[in-house]
Amino acid sequence: MIPFLDLNQINAPHLEAIEQASLRVLRSGWYILGNELKAFENAFAAYCQAQYCVGVANGLDAITLILKSFDFPQGSEIIVPANTYIASVLPVSYLHLTPVLVEPDAYTMLINPSLIEASITPRTKAIITVDLYGRSCEMEEIMDIANRHGLKVITDAAQAHGARYRQKKVGSIAHATAFSFYPTKNLGALGDAGAITTNDKALAERVTYLRNYGSKVRYKNDYQGVNSRLDEIQAAILNVKLPYLDADNQRRKDIAQRYLSNIKMPNLTLPPADRIQDDAWHLFVVRHPQREKLVSYLERQGIQTNIHYPLPIHKQAAYKDLEHLTLPITEQIHSEVISLPLHPMLTDQEVSTMIDALNTFICNDHD
Ligand SMILES: *Cc1c(COP(=O)(O)O)cnc(C)c1O
Repeated sequence: MIPFLDLNQINAPHLEAIEQASLRVLRSGWYILGNELKAFENAFAAYCQAQYCVGVANGLDAITLILKSFDFPQGSEIIVPANTYIASVLPVSYLHLTPVLVEPDAYTMLINPSLIEASITPRTKAIITVDLYGRSCEMEEIMDIANRHGLKVITDAAQAHGARYRQKKVGSIAHATAFSFYPTKNLGALGDAGAITTNDKALAERVTYLRNYGSKVRYKNDYQGVNSRLDEIQAAILNVKLPYLDADNQRRKDIAQRYLSNIKMPNLTLPPADRIQDDAWHLFVVRHPQREKLVSYLERQGIQTNIHYPLPIHKQAAYKDLEHLTLPITEQIHSEVISLPLHPMLTDQEVSTMIDALNTFICNDHD
């Protein structure tokens, strides 16, 4: 059986270092907002080529606190991709702003820049770009649109640690970028964690207040903040794992390259291969018109797959107010996508097994 992802396997190379780091925090007697977090924030800012990094409790809060810090009037419109995980959109609704869903490009599956401009109204205040599956959006075009219309750009990079757009690192391009260190991400903690990166000093300062009750000096509260701090123990674990992120991402790229050059299966659409070295390959998402058939075939071959995501946001019970929307590209993507196993611990043999299984699917298609 080739599991889709096994977190024991992912963390196995770091077990001893994680034990030592955890013990160090345990014995320090200091568990929140301390030196481990400071060290991680500095290291992750440098990694992203951003001036500031502020650790928060998770990726959802990272997006929420960025949006909150802009203090847009209620009812402002925020452009979001229709093809994304629900966490990209929930912060907009939570802050009483209005999400405006924009269709993706059918090929990249990322927000289509040429449709963004048509969705801008006098109420539009920001664009949330999501670097879904590990690939950066078309940031040159999007930043240009935003600058022309005076909009903020927030990137949800929960799936794109280490990705690049042209020469720039994700985390240094948008006005602010949100990261998640959920255990399954390219850089994962052993629990929840997240971060915000930005080159905007005032914004970094505001989210630093907001994550800690709107306070910088104890019992002096300047804003109505929340409790969204990145624990010392998670920061210590992230300090252990960050130095291996580039090597892990390189392994992901090598596997993606093998899939892209060797999978020759009729009716299967492979992900874009034009930026292999720039993409972070969080997921390897293929498309097939008879998805359920392919999924059960792979299951019989001992290959576990996943679907990111089975139901678009405007079809979710949580978003009944968006159910009138027709978003054909998004809907088609959701009915066809399959994520193949792709992580740094896969062996060459396992990758070959998966390629062979896919390339022989046609023979077994008739049973
Ligand atoms: C994982 C993820 C999030 C949310 O991160 P959490 O840390 O679980 O809150 C947001 N957006 C995308 C695209 C994600 O994949």
